[in-house]
Amino acid sequence: MAKLPFDIDLKGKVAVVTGGGGVLCSAFAKTIAQCGAKVAVLDLNQDAARKVADEIGQEGGEAIAVAADCLDVQSLQKASEEVEKRLGTPDILINGAGGNHPRGTTDDEQLDPAAIGQVKTFFDLDPSGVQFVLNLNYMATLLTTQVFAKNMAGRGGNIINISSMNAFRPLTKIPAYSGAKAAVSNLTQWMAVYFAKAGVRVNAIAPGFFVTNQNRALLFDESGRPTARTDKILRATPMGRFGEAEELTGTLLWLLCDAASGFVTGTVIPVDGGFSAYSGV
Ligand code: NAD
Repeated sequence: MAKLPFDIDLKGKVAVVTGGGGVLCSAFAKTIAQCGAKVAVLDLNQDAARKVADEIGQEGGEAIAVAADCLDVQSLQKASEEVEKRLGTPDILINGAGGNHPRGTTDDEQLDPAAIGQVKTFFDLDPSGVQFVLNLNYMATLLTTQVFAKNMAGRGGNIINISSMNAFRPLTKIPAYSGAKAAVSNLTQWMAVYFAKAGVRVNAIAPGFFVTNQNRALLFDESGRPTARTDKILRATPMGRFGEAEELTGTLLWLLCDAASGFVTGTVIPVDGGFSAYSGV
């Protein structure tokens, strides 16, 4: 069991963590369970969700694995019925499902007109790839909140979305993911205003660079050596290293604790080793 930076009491609460089978959100699910909440680990990947739920159970927490697609309203509704039946009405929703796709990504950082036709430039971006990334980050957050926050309204709730550094300023090569996460930050503010009088707080965590399944191949080559992109990222991160999933825990606990952050809503909190503060010079 991981040592928490401080304790908060979530006993009697029910939490839904989407993308809970992945690297960052499995850590979130475990932390929330460790604080006493019952956790639904929701993921498209049923095996990954089950593994995380089992690990939580082995550590003395209460969790169920729920296989669902955050882009499919029927699948989400089925998941919601399962959560209501087995755990109760959710008090906490972590919208963690998200990611990028190669079809929404260019090969080049800046256009060299001579390279058109030689490498994948902006002009070769596949609209279906761009749409997939916008859906996976923005629409999944919106649809999942529609389904799970309905019963929070009036009785109170806490929603945490997962944004990213590229929401503040786009990263080269990944226009779709950058736009999608900017939309997630914007939706966080919109939802915070919308739900404010219904007792639901909505905030986002914007992680800097953490090595996870979705970016490992971009950050390290086949023999495990850092890629040129990794060198660039680390040079742009004043602390000069990647973050560890546990380094998001304190921000998560603070946002989940009404006594500590009860007047905080509509924020997007960077946890980035200084990346967003650094001009590069
Ligand atoms: P990950 O790939 O380890 O986890 C993502 C999880 O989401 C996977 O388990 C996947 O099965 C699940 N998922 C994908 N599509 C889904 C769908 N349609 N419905 C339900 N589940 C689905 O990646 P991670 O890095 O842990 O990412 C978690 C979140 O953090 C994502 O939103 C990601 O964009 C964001 N993020 C990551 C970083 C980083 O450096 N790793 C930085 C900023 C933001």
